[in-house]
Amino acid sequence: MSQLAIYPGSFDPVTYGHIDLIKRATRIFDEVVVAVVNNAANETLFNADERVAMLQETTQDIKNIHIEVFQGLIIDFAKKKKSNMLIRGLRMISDFEYEFQMALTNRRLDEHIETVFLMPSERYSFLSSTLIKEAASLGADVSSFVPEIVAKRIQEKLQVI
Ligand code: ADP
Repeated sequence: MSQLAIYPGSFDPVTYGHIDLIKRATRIFDEVVVAVVNNAANETLFNADERVAMLQETTQDIKNIHIEVFQGLIIDFAKKKKSNMLIRGLRMISDFEYEFQMALTNRRLDEHIETVFLMPSERYSFLSSTLIKEAASLGADVSSFVPEIVAKRIQEKLQVI
């Protein structure tokens, strides 16, 4: 049976850390669905379509992935996709507490759900979309953190805000 895993997140915007994780996931699972969360409560710099477009453009060379948008609970989306595997990234110990809580909450909500944690290359383990946006808004060059096309979109977006 082929194994499909879901990698959920906001991807606001996609970074080299996310891409590193997607590549690792495709080496373990037959198919990976990158699930872009689109919940009204989450304020994002980029709307869901923009986040999906950047993911698509920057993962063209990776086989067996699909980018999709979801709303609501990730366990419901996973059920719809007939998958019980969630992928999350662990950058630092500081990620652990929140991820631990979320994995156990999801498992309590759906006993079949398993969360698989992957670690990015240490080159990317300090990267976060939030910090990249903050640095860019203060004038930093973020081209070593995100693909060129994403750095360009961040610049364009910050100019219209
Ligand atoms: P964040 O949690 O930084 O707001 P996302 O919601 O887009 O970002 O993250 C989705 C998943 O990707 C989370 O599990 C997060 O830990 C992971 N992730 C984000 N940045 C990295 C990175 N640099 N390396 C590995 N995993 C990452």
